[in-house]
Amino acid sequence: AKNLGKNECVYYNAHMKDEALKRKDIKIIIDEACNQDGFYCVYQPQVNALTGLTEGYEALVRLKDYDIPPNQFISVAEETKAILTIGRLVTKQVVEQMAMWRQHGLELRPVAINFSSKQIKDKTYVQYLKELLEEHQISPELIEIEITESIFMNNNEKAMKLFKDFLSIGVRLALDDFGTGYSSINYLTYIPVSKIKLDKSLVDIYLTPGKDTFIKNIIRLVHCLGLKITVEGVEKKSQYHRLRKFGCDYIQGYYFSQPITGKEVEDLKNPLK
Ligand code: C2E
Ligand code: CA
Ligand code: CA
Ligand code: CA
Repeated sequence: AKNLGKNECVYYNAHMKDEALKRKDIKIIIDEACNQDGFYCVYQPQVNALTGLTEGYEALVRLKDYDIPPNQFISVAEETKAILTIGRLVTKQVVEQMAMWRQHGLELRPVAINFSSKQIKDKTYVQYLKELLEEHQISPELIEIEITESIFMNNNEKAMKLFKDFLSIGVRLALDDFGTGYSSINYLTYIPVSKIKLDKSLVDIYLTPGKDTFIKNIIRLVHCLGLKITVEGVEKKSQYHRLRKFGCDYIQGYYFSQPITGKEVEDLKNPLK
């Protein structure tokens, strides 16, 4: 349970003592959910730091019948092929949701989809995504794929080939969880991403008075490379104001909104507000 946010992985731990048993149970729950439409997505607004308007969403998967945080069940799913199934189910739901939003008169905004590094094993994922977008006539520029640096762990060439494939169908790439794990500035200079997402853990530590030069300079660095930056996990007005002052592009955090359902996105009177 390392590396998880404060509010995550609480409830389930309280009931199960044995970590291995717990993972085994989660495996069963995941397999069942894969077979029975047991997942759904929620959407967290990504807000333009300058205007305060919502300009996109990140899709985040949830289990329908269990209160197990995604960090927890995704890491179990990543031990098996289940993550490939979940990756496709989420993708399909997102594209269908976008088609639905359009049908209901909403002006579509970009939606980010998380792509687990393990999904590199899904050799036809890009083709799958391409066909889904064609089927529902959703423009690929409206899809952003969030990758993490761990995708380079095994094979750099394979990862770079995958990125090229993504770009060739017209979707954009974002580098997620920047500032955690083995982040290296080196990657930024050659991964073809258009956006960096700065992790909440750095926000919590450094986005405080007297300590925020670091974040200010990360934003500068990202801009020097011609990329956009989204800062995640912004919970306080003071953090928002500092980020806006630093020229941060997008903000995603509870200060603006928690993840909401597809229906709630529709219920926002004006999807731009
Ligand atoms: P992530 O990709 O870094 O997603 C951001 C997480 O931060 C989300 O947690 C979001 O609800 C949370 N968050 C956003 N703003 C705030 C804030 O202001 N305060 C706090 N405390 N938290 C905030 P969530 O939905 O629990 O997802 C956790 C992780 O699970 C994600 O981290 C991602 O790594 C993984 N995940 C979620 N959905 C998917 C998916 O569809 N596919 C894959 N492969 N992974 C997913
Ligand atoms: Ca993400
Ligand atoms: Ca993230
Ligand atoms: Ca994260």
